[in-house]
Amino acid sequence: MNRLAVLGQPIAHSLSPVMHTAAFEALGMSGDWSYEAIELSPEGFAAGVGELRAGGYRGANVTVPHKRAALELADEVSAAADAIGAANTLSFGPAGVRADNTDAPGLIAALPIPPAGRRTLVLGAGGAARAVVWALLGAGADVAVHNRTASRAQELVDELGGAVIELTDSFLPIGKFDILVNATSVGLARPGASARVVGADLKELRIEADEFSDRLVVVDLVYGTEPTELSLAGSRGGATIVDGLEILVRQGAESFRIWTGMEPPLEVMRRAIRDQQE
Ligand code: NAP
Repeated sequence: MNRLAVLGQPIAHSLSPVMHTAAFEALGMSGDWSYEAIELSPEGFAAGVGELRAGGYRGANVTVPHKRAALELADEVSAAADAIGAANTLSFGPAGVRADNTDAPGLIAALPIPPAGRRTLVLGAGGAARAVVWALLGAGADVAVHNRTASRAQELVDELGGAVIELTDSFLPIGKFDILVNATSVGLARPGASARVVGADLKELRIEADEFSDRLVVVDLVYGTEPTELSLAGSRGGATIVDGLEILVRQGAESFRIWTGMEPPLEVMRRAIRDQQE
């Protein structure tokens, strides 16, 4: 059996097991391949990965809060993982642990238009934004970054490239861009939180709803059981929407390709996670 897992904390609600299991079933691989969720604490991460390797696992996806630690324990690191400073895919082989970052190629694969030469605006300066900025620059896009804490956007741009958009009290000029990517955590449902005030997320993102148009592609990395306010407002304004579930599918598909060498069944993977969310 070729065993795989997703490692994180918390991990119980991860959609990756259902997505990969559906892909194995669709391709008649489920007798030989399995995928499960395993919770590991930051203190137990390196030892946990060692146990999986010793137990014959083939690899793992890695999510919050282990993406940096995954990079650090690898024997071989892909150019993407190295530049982004985070890995979300580990492969265990005779030569050791290889670390890849499939968030970056997953984003590019999810875009409905080629990003080369396009004006793109990335919101955020955390780990997800780093992968997005690196991917877009590598694909030849013109990249602007805006973050609530401007100094973090500046650090990101100094390291990876692009330009910072700083605001004082105005809104973002999203009409000037072809692609807008939300890589902040704004829109993430907070467990136990009361219902969000309509318009609050857009306000936090410094976006005016009437600035959307059918010229804009909006990518929202955030996902939950309901569409985000950004996706809804963008869609109402005529924009083309790529939601966080599609981004999840695309990064998973790239990991699937790395481990199995097989073409991932995208539609099966999409259906599996969307059914799970309903
Ligand atoms: P992170 O490192 O914690 O970064 C969070 C970012 O959000 C920071 O730039 C932060 O700005 C900004 N932010 C947080 N609250 C804000 C607010 N109220 N107003 C404005 N900005 C705010 O998180 P991450 O790992 O980069 O992940 C970001 C999001 O992407 C998460 O929702 C995650 O679930 C999602 N994601 C999705 C996928 C997928 O497959 N769909 C993959 C990766 C990540 P400051 O610097 O000012 O704090």
